[in-house]
Amino acid sequence: NKFGGVCVDFEEATKDAQPNLLRFMQELQAAFKPRGWIVVQAVPFDDPDWNYRDYAAASDYLMLMAYDEHYAGSKDTGSISGQSWYEQNLIARMKDLTPAKTIIALGNYGYNWTAGASSAKEVSFQEAVISAKDSEAEIKFDETTRNPYFSYEEEDKSQHTVWFLDSVTAFNQIRAASGYRPAGFALWRLGSEDPSIWSIFGSDQLNPVPDGLKRIVYGYEVDFQGTGELLRVLTRPHDGERSVQTDQKTGFINSEKYISTPSSYVIERTGDHPGSIALTFDDGPDPEYTPAILDILKRENVPATFFVIGKNGQAYPDLLRRIVNEGHELGNHTFTHPNLGEIPGRLTDLELNATQRLIESVTGRSTVLFRPPYFGDAEADKPEEVEPALRAQQLNYIIVGLRIDPSDWKPNVTPDEIVQRTVDKAMDDNPETRGQVVLLHDSGGDRAATIEALPRLIHELRAK
Ligand SMILES: [Zn+2]
Repeated sequence: NKFGGVCVDFEEATKDAQPNLLRFMQELQAAFKPRGWIVVQAVPFDDPDWNYRDYAAASDYLMLMAYDEHYAGSKDTGSISGQSWYEQNLIARMKDLTPAKTIIALGNYGYNWTAGASSAKEVSFQEAVISAKDSEAEIKFDETTRNPYFSYEEEDKSQHTVWFLDSVTAFNQIRAASGYRPAGFALWRLGSEDPSIWSIFGSDQLNPVPDGLKRIVYGYEVDFQGTGELLRVLTRPHDGERSVQTDQKTGFINSEKYISTPSSYVIERTGDHPGSIALTFDDGPDPEYTPAILDILKRENVPATFFVIGKNGQAYPDLLRRIVNEGHELGNHTFTHPNLGEIPGRLTDLELNATQRLIESVTGRSTVLFRPPYFGDAEADKPEEVEPALRAQQLNYIIVGLRIDPSDWKPNVTPDEIVQRTVDKAMDDNPETRGQVVLLHDSGGDRAATIEALPRLIHELRAK
């Protein structure tokens, strides 16, 4: 066990709770210290109820949470860590604290306030700049607080104000704290930050240089728009650009301008048809299970789509013909079922083309439907998963995702579970999460449970 210590963060501890909280920290330190374990306590930046000196004595490091000047429930909208608010509190705290035992936690996130609502929504840096871009709002830099913000109107006419913290605010905050030589800086929170912050966070962070802030490297998440399970990659990621103006005398950044906002992959969803259900079967054909499934579908008079693996289709061409002859659709699921995120793009083309040629030569039909293996089984949501999908799209395929995944491929799954999971998910009517495409498998292992579940699944879905 490489356990090295603990960071304790009790939020909104009231005045009455302070004596007990302090005693708890003292006991914790007494228990940890003999083992060489470190105790860190996160504390609010400006709460008069907290005795900073006592808490500092009861821990190895105090972590000052230098943000939430305005917070989700605050009455007014405003800066999340205005520069003067930050500097004043820093001066007040450092009167009591030893710099070598103090860590300053910088915020990098935002709040989106809706006019009239009681609480704001916390947003990441990426979400903030995407909102600004989508609503064509201009990101402004408030001269007084030196925090960025923007306002926009939603399609439903609601009025929004977003304040956020970015790498420029972090730059100014690090610079203002440098004179104290604190033990270090922390970030709230990883994954929410302006990625340019990494040009100033790190080894020489007491003397940050603003040059690295000019390029905003795209964020981590894939941005989905619309509803439905047919996916179309709209844009590739591109970096954003900002200009920064530094005050020659003080070295602080006194202005920034977002010239272009960064974008991650943007994927458009279409094909949302509430009330309908599409059954899909992946990984076949299989000499045992595919005929059994086709028999059930014929009996129930239900059409489905089979995303076949080319290699299996080559072994059982009669099954490909039967699928087509009985009125079902064929889709391309590659030739050998590789993880397309791990092979070169040209091999992806080969996987797709070989399967397409096989389907054409065996059935006399071609297919425009494609579902990538592995991540297609759960929809592409990581950047490395989108590039192969984009490649398929450039070959004119429609990428078919899915939202209803009863995990019929998992070992020991029961028919009841397959039916129940499918029906539950099919009942979801939230436009953000609902789905109509069901993923089942007709190959790749023991599919007895799938076959047993299928007739009941069809009856239950029809009854709804
Ligand atoms: Zn598959």
